Amino acid sequence: MFCVKCGRDCEEQIDGLCMECFLDGRSLMVLPHHVDLQRCTNCEEYNIRDRWTKTTEEDAVQEAALTGLAVIPESQVVSVATMAQAQDDRTYEVKVQADLAIGSYIVQAESSTLVRVKNNVCKRCSRQLGNYYEATMQIRSGEKDLPDDLRDEIVRRIRDSVELQAKNNRQLFITKVQEVPGGVDIMLSSISLARSLTKDLVESYGAESKESASLVGQSSDGIDIYRLTYLVRFPAYHTGDVLEYRGRPYKLTGLSKSGGKLMSLIDFRETSVRKSEIQDLRILVKHGDRKEALVLSRSGKEIQVMHPGNYSTVDLRIPEGAEIAEGGNVDVVQVEDELYYLP
Ligand SMILES: [Zn+2]
Ligand SMILES: [Zn+2]
Repeated sequence: MFCVKCGRDCEEQIDGLCMECFLDGRSLMVLPHHVDLQRCTNCEEYNIRDRWTKTTEEDAVQEAALTGLAVIPESQVVSVATMAQAQDDRTYEVKVQADLAIGSYIVQAESSTLVRVKNNVCKRCSRQLGNYYEATMQIRSGEKDLPDDLRDEIVRRIRDSVELQAKNNRQLFITKVQEVPGGVDIMLSSISLARSLTKDLVESYGAESKESASLVGQSSDGIDIYRLTYLVRFPAYHTGDVLEYRGRPYKLTGLSKSGGKLMSLIDFRETSVRKSEIQDLRILVKHGDRKEALVLSRSGKEIQVMHPGNYSTVDLRIPEGAEIAEGGNVDVVQVEDELYYLP
């Protein structure tokens, strides 16, 4: 085969040209004059290839430069190296060096572009800043007030869960947490998020839930927009409370959608009870009203503690294998005149 330009005999040709004539003066790789890189001023993430990403500015700038990279169709990019140099605090010059495979040749090409960092607000942040929400969870109690420690526990549980889920879907966020008489309202960016959080509370705490919708308007294409409200009512009893069951004190050790588990404070055996049964049990001591007692000594299945009320020495039964050290404190509850060890 002969090159149509220089006439040399050559093994490899592109468009009738030998490789040297083909490469001669040809620009193999181009970058645009500049690339605009959007940065959210609120969450400080960068938009690269239509995705908001948490990364350093240095990496974002180099990634952004590569989004504008174009090479001739006869070539394939084997590897690229980038180098960014700040020109001012908004503009970077990025040099790109690439190894291109053309036929059996590896050819080096070099180009550069300006990356301009532009301040913007991403969709998620603009929604969050605009107090956008699709659903409200109303956390309430069967009692008059939601106890503070339970409220804090639930809010923390919801925050942790949303934070975890937001890693895979950045449209999920908590718009607002608002204390209201009798409980707390939590506004959320997504209906399905509120639904799954409600389900979790029903299953883990034996809470009751009620869903209602209200029409808030219409979208630009005429679709009705609803906001959902999930009323989540927590029972008056909570895990850790001491309840009266068949005339004896039991600790509520677990709750589920359908019932709960009770542990006897006398022999520490566990019993499963249905939800309808728990609802009728008398609460003897709330978890928050338990006391601490100093352990004076230990002998087998009993410990001797100092009564937190009258400082007398009291023998208490303990579960087998309980790790209790002399000189330490244990939780106790007083039911009528009797003191019990609370596991
Ligand atoms: Zn040639
Ligand atoms: Zn943002």
